[in-house]
Amino acid sequence: MIQILLRCFTSLTFIILFAHSSLKAQPAEKHYLLKAGLLYDAEKNAFVKGQQILIKGSRIIQVGAKLDVPPNTQVLDFPHATVAPGLIDAHTHVLTSQGITEELAADAILRSSEHRVLRAVKYLKSYLAAGFTSIRDVGNSGQYLDVELRQALERRDIDGPRMFVSGPIIGSMDGQLTSGFPLRKFDHVARSEQSLVSGAEEASKAVKEHIARGVDLIKILAIGNRLTLSLEEMKAIVQTAHAHRLKVTAHCDRDWAAHAAIQAGVDGIEHAYGFKQATLDTMAQKGIYVVPTYGSVDGMAYYRKLTKQDYKLDELKKEFADSWGKWVLAIRKAGLHMVAGSDAYYDIGVPRGDWAKQTLRGYWDAGLTPEEVLQSSTINAARILNQTGELGVIKANALADIVVFNGDLKQNFSQALFDVALVMKEGRIEFQKTQP
Ligand SMILES: [Zn+2]
Repeated sequence: MIQILLRCFTSLTFIILFAHSSLKAQPAEKHYLLKAGLLYDAEKNAFVKGQQILIKGSRIIQVGAKLDVPPNTQVLDFPHATVAPGLIDAHTHVLTSQGITEELAADAILRSSEHRVLRAVKYLKSYLAAGFTSIRDVGNSGQYLDVELRQALERRDIDGPRMFVSGPIIGSMDGQLTSGFPLRKFDHVARSEQSLVSGAEEASKAVKEHIARGVDLIKILAIGNRLTLSLEEMKAIVQTAHAHRLKVTAHCDRDWAAHAAIQAGVDGIEHAYGFKQATLDTMAQKGIYVVPTYGSVDGMAYYRKLTKQDYKLDELKKEFADSWGKWVLAIRKAGLHMVAGSDAYYDIGVPRGDWAKQTLRGYWDAGLTPEEVLQSSTINAARILNQTGELGVIKANALADIVVFNGDLKQNFSQALFDVALVMKEGRIEFQKTQP
């Protein structure tokens, strides 16, 4: 009996010891050598031919024309592809979806938080497949559902691009509601989706609550429905956020409303629809970045088809050139730090990640070079996320966030942009196109 017990004990000890040692043993860090026919060098803002990228674990070790390859390295050879840093969408709302005929706030009224989170999981996957390895999510996400989602990604419970999140948008007492909005729903929507403040003290307190809840940045409404935040309120927000090393970005879709936000010291402005050249020049002088959330000619055509409106392509092109196209060129002229952001919150039967890329297509439609477009969605975006050297570049010590596009992005930008072969995030292959 004692012998049997002793044997059991010994084998149990063995099992425990074995389990313990296997838990402690770290898997060897995987090496990849990625061979790129064409590489977008974000620091030089130029395409370079015939480059190799050596990756170990989550980071890039070396980049060069011909590298020594350690044993057991997996080679990924893309002689006819363009390799770029993982794309970044700096303005999105993965917890919101608006049907083509729905009001802006329908999601908050009709759908539960659970519905929105589960749906966001699908959007995040589509972002990865489109080549985005980071997104900045800027509100319309209930009460901190964005923080929950970011934490789920960090735990690797779900797959998707890494998230930088703002929590509820801080605005004046009328929030951000469209003019046709039924006011009896005001409390439900404005107070559950946004953070409404009156006075500098409340404004500062809202920022502190956001920080306590774990946001990465602060977003404000420079203008809401009818009310604007006062200069004092915005100054209090900026001061409190900056004291805790958080950036403040302002939703602003009218030129006149931008001036108080600029004076208050915000770091960036979202949308900037129809801003005057003088306003853009002032922003450039003050080092304020801009996230122009515009679409493309193709996107306009798709929307017209979906809503059964007749259109002529030439007319659409003119409409684009007179609005979004003109504003993009004004931003370039001002020399602003331009960061790509899609504001893709429509659900119109296109994967969210692909829809988000229409913004990049639109910058190109406006006349920016492929290099300038990629710059706005990589290195420029990384800077406003405080991730310079970590994200948005392919160089030694950066995180291995990489997207491979089939074809030549420099020569055939609009085609290659939508043909993603492989996506890597922190050294893991997260998406690979299956061969037909
Ligand atoms: Zn938005």
